[in-house]
Amino acid sequence: MSADFLALAQPGVQQLSPYVPGKPVDELARELDIDPSTIVKLASNENPLGASPKALTAIREELAELTRYPDGNGFALKTLLAEQCGVQLDQVTLGNGSNDILELVARAYLAPGLNAVFSEHAFAVYPIVTQAVGAQARVVPANDWGHDLPAMLAAIDDNTRVVFIANPNNPTGTWFGAQALNEFLQDVPERVLVVLDEAYIEYAEGGDLPDGLEFLSAYPNLLVSRTFSKAYGLAALRVGYGLSTAVVADVLNRVRQPFNVNSLALAAACAALQDADYLAESRRLNEAGMQQLQDGFRELGLGWIPSKGNFIALDLGQLAAPVYQGLLREGVIVRPVANYGMPNHLRITIGLPAENTRLLEALAKVLARG
Ligand SMILES: *Cc1c(COP(=O)(O)O)cnc(C)c1O
Repeated sequence: MSADFLALAQPGVQQLSPYVPGKPVDELARELDIDPSTIVKLASNENPLGASPKALTAIREELAELTRYPDGNGFALKTLLAEQCGVQLDQVTLGNGSNDILELVARAYLAPGLNAVFSEHAFAVYPIVTQAVGAQARVVPANDWGHDLPAMLAAIDDNTRVVFIANPNNPTGTWFGAQALNEFLQDVPERVLVVLDEAYIEYAEGGDLPDGLEFLSAYPNLLVSRTFSKAYGLAALRVGYGLSTAVVADVLNRVRQPFNVNSLALAAACAALQDADYLAESRRLNEAGMQQLQDGFRELGLGWIPSKGNFIALDLGQLAAPVYQGLLREGVIVRPVANYGMPNHLRITIGLPAENTRLLEALAKVLARG
């Protein structure tokens, strides 16, 4: 008899379920035996625009150096980020995606006996990084799908070291305003690190969504995480960043893998950051697509959760699971979110106009079939 290596895993890990990604296009193409190019994937909040041409050029130029290790300090990208975000270089931490930043925080600040507070329906990576280091996840019930910041405050105890909040939140798309954030930060104990996950902030800039960077100087216990995976269109390259005090950045740097961000990602991120036209086009496309989908849902008599992201949680009641399957048969991949405690919703990423049309037509067809 061999030993039970599941039972031997630390308790937090035993209780975890692996992260469930959106269904890959090629997988569905194999299952349906159809051409992958006919499939529309609106399941992973990816940017439908394709990467910035400037990022592609930067990657091509970088290819000549593939035999070398990347710059482990990410000097060029950090310099650009520091400039653009109005912080010092030593306040920037680069990550292999912003998920890496979340994990660095957990490894540096959480341990058995300590806990992290986050909301119901929050991003699936928060429980993974928390329980992976043996810390306890304190999940606070949501308020009308969104973060209940006062309740999260009340859930903080002596053993809390980290709070994860996402604004806007994925998969709900819900958000909170500047005043709510400020009141929250004022009342959080100074020793609790608040991770403000702004993965979708570029889509909402200029609106009534607070810019986390404006709170950094007032709150040394704040870390803002951002990513190149969404509005910057570089999800496959895995690059994100954290902005914090230099002390927190120094701590994260100690647990970081030496070359956590690869050279193609560094080069592409630098180029994407300087491509203002691409970002503007991403936003324009997202706003138009959000409108298109909402108009279509309204026509179908469907409800949804208002969203400030590049996705929308559509309420299908009891039909969510069968509609998901029906859409797959129509070659349209969306994201079931039952594992986020939302069995009645499907999360749909905003696509190109033609992709949104495909989704709406497939949805109408599937719903008509009953
Ligand atoms: C997509 C997403 C991220 C970004 O993940 P990366 O690792 O940067 O690709 C982070 N937080 C939330 C809430 C997200 O939805």
